[in-house]
Amino acid sequence: MTAPITPDVLTIPRKAPEGLKPNLIGLTRPALRAALIAAGTPEKQAKMREGQVWQWLYHWGCRDFGAMTNLAKDFRALLATNFDIRLPQIVTRQVSADGTRKYLLRIDGGHEVETVYIPEEGRGTLCISSQVGCTLTCSFCHTGTQKLVRNLTAAEIVGQVMVARDDLGEWPVPGEPKREERLISNVVLMGMGEPLYNFDNVRDAMQIVMDGEGIALSRRRITLSTSGVVPMMDKCGAELNVNLAVSLHAVTNELRDQIVPLNRKYPIEELLAACRRYPGASNARRITFEYVMLRGVNDTPAEAHELVRLLRGLPAKVNLIPFNPWPGSPYRTSTPEAVRAFAAIVEAAGYSSPIRRPRGRDILAACGQLRTESERRRRDPQTEA
Ligand code: SAH
Ligand code: SF4
Repeated sequence: MTAPITPDVLTIPRKAPEGLKPNLIGLTRPALRAALIAAGTPEKQAKMREGQVWQWLYHWGCRDFGAMTNLAKDFRALLATNFDIRLPQIVTRQVSADGTRKYLLRIDGGHEVETVYIPEEGRGTLCISSQVGCTLTCSFCHTGTQKLVRNLTAAEIVGQVMVARDDLGEWPVPGEPKREERLISNVVLMGMGEPLYNFDNVRDAMQIVMDGEGIALSRRRITLSTSGVVPMMDKCGAELNVNLAVSLHAVTNELRDQIVPLNRKYPIEELLAACRRYPGASNARRITFEYVMLRGVNDTPAEAHELVRLLRGLPAKVNLIPFNPWPGSPYRTSTPEAVRAFAAIVEAAGYSSPIRRPRGRDILAACGQLRTESERRRRDPQTEA
């Protein structure tokens, strides 16, 4: 039996919480300006006000209208009367033996989502989620077994970066010298969910993260990982154009149909054609192909050779991810020898082929292990009376 592409999940509608004021977080610059005007800011001041509020929110990480000291008192009052500054709440924070931090965050509606911070030599990567759960059902992925799915809002997506900055103490402090090293130097959309199934919110959130007057991470430091939603890859290239990572995981449609069911809709040829069209793919910027190593399933030398053949002419890099087990998972991790042999073949063909070291496995923070604990405990809501 094969899993359906999108199973019978319960998609939770995203209702604005009642009785709460509109949130300023997550609005793009034009939307922020429009909101300020709608609340009574004179049009001719609106551009300046937008810039000031933006700086408080995203440069200083300020959460209190009263502390926005360069704003006139009556304007601060206008903000406080009309708006909120609302971020996800940290429910738990687990720190792995290797320094990886996993945050469980509560968002509106009581739903939960996970974010992972991975410190490395000279860099720090924040792995953020785009959905609660995922409607796709890749057979090796824990997130795909979660029955409740809801798209995150732009506020909840940029909010993950802001909350992690809070925890790491990374906001600048007025009067103190600018810190040179960045704790969060890279953001990857590789947490829970399929980012191209929630593209508009992901785009708005990443545009906020990239804005030079705020968090200011360049597009070269942001990577979006997709399981291969082909039509949205073109849109992503046109409207966001961050680095692309593609979850390939198999070199034949027969196998990929099984382990990445979305392949039945967008097979390998179409996926690779979309990669070739991706802006920048023709020159210096390489596309990352993710390949989860499943013992005895997709890890033979013959498959490595076929992979090289498929990628011919594409500026690519292959990220080999030893399978990370989760409770009840149906696979085993490839042997280290199989992973090394596979990597050697890909390298010999001229593609860089790093083996991703699992991080935070002890706290279930590694790739594909995210699935919120409360969700693990929750009864299937569809069977509830
Ligand atoms: N939905 C997107 C992004 C999230 S998953 C996507 O599928 O690309 C991030 C990466 O982790 C993907 O390449 C995914 O296939 C991989 N992954 C999922 N489960 C895994 C597991 N158990 N072990 C190792 N990698 C896994
Ligand atoms: Fe969804 Fe990605 Fe997991 Fe597949 S690997 S189920 S697309 S989160």
